[in-house]
Amino acid sequence: MKVAGPLIQQAGPWLAQDTRVRTFETEARWFTIPAQLAKDETMKNKVHITVLVENSVHLRGLRAEHGLAWHIQFGPHAVLFDTGQTGLLIDNAAGLGVSLDHLDAVVLSHGHYDHTGGLAAVLEHSPRARLFLHPAALDSRFSLQSDGSARGVGMQEASRAALAQNQVRVVECRTRTEVVPGLFVTGEIPRRTEYEDVGGRFYLDERGTQPDPLTDDQALFFDTPDGLVVLLGCGHAGVVNTVRHIRELAGQRPVHTVLGGFHLLHASAARLERTVDELRALRPRQLGPAHCTGLAATIRLWSELADRCVAVAVGARFGFER
Ligand SMILES: [Zn+2]
Ligand SMILES: [Zn+2]
Repeated sequence: MKVAGPLIQQAGPWLAQDTRVRTFETEARWFTIPAQLAKDETMKNKVHITVLVENSVHLRGLRAEHGLAWHIQFGPHAVLFDTGQTGLLIDNAAGLGVSLDHLDAVVLSHGHYDHTGGLAAVLEHSPRARLFLHPAALDSRFSLQSDGSARGVGMQEASRAALAQNQVRVVECRTRTEVVPGLFVTGEIPRRTEYEDVGGRFYLDERGTQPDPLTDDQALFFDTPDGLVVLLGCGHAGVVNTVRHIRELAGQRPVHTVLGGFHLLHASAARLERTVDELRALRPRQLGPAHCTGLAATIRLWSELADRCVAVAVGARFGFER
């Protein structure tokens, strides 16, 4: 299987033959999958993942925000995983030549504002997309600040209103659910490791008396001949719990790629140590710690597993064959 790098090379002759495809060097808008090509037989087993929202950006004309959103062209199907914090993903998608019209599905990793804030804007483009979420994603929730005050971190009002107005077809995912053929969302992830927690002071009430277990936290995955590809939202269930659970769901297949938020920004030294050891033992070919992973943990992963780490920022693309 071919993986990251200058993807124009990976894409093969099916892409090179199409004159509407832009090249990589000049600007961010470097490849477009025309609708008829997406239906083509040769596209059936190809997966193209584009980062639409992330905390960092290195390409001209695009912007970053604290949040995450991935566009996944999964064979003929277009899926969005999370929506960022605001409607920024619309501009970035336009800048990258990614269409948000006719999405087959929108999947929410969990209900936090930085993953669900673009929902209203997305539904304007794709009102008929099915929405996959765990029902707890709709809970009110709060984060306790260092001064003791509470900040709402749940789904914003505009997103809730858009769900109601559009009469969105919601698919509730409590267990593993197939989003489109071959692409799965985990549903609830069992918390088995003793060293992983939800990664912050998260509560279901403003007074901070009911801890928020983030039961809605889930990840997306699919299999390839070389192993599993895992996309994380915030990883509140713990990256190790998440990957272990996906391997259980997928017949203990090897892990090829893990990309997304590892949520280690408040992790203890012990947790970090155990997480690095576990990830090393899994021998993934690509690790892309992003978003809420935290600077210290990101540096640690990049220095200890340097040959496997890949950059995930707005505009990054990853290609796979199934
Ligand atoms: Zn997040
Ligand atoms: Zn979160």
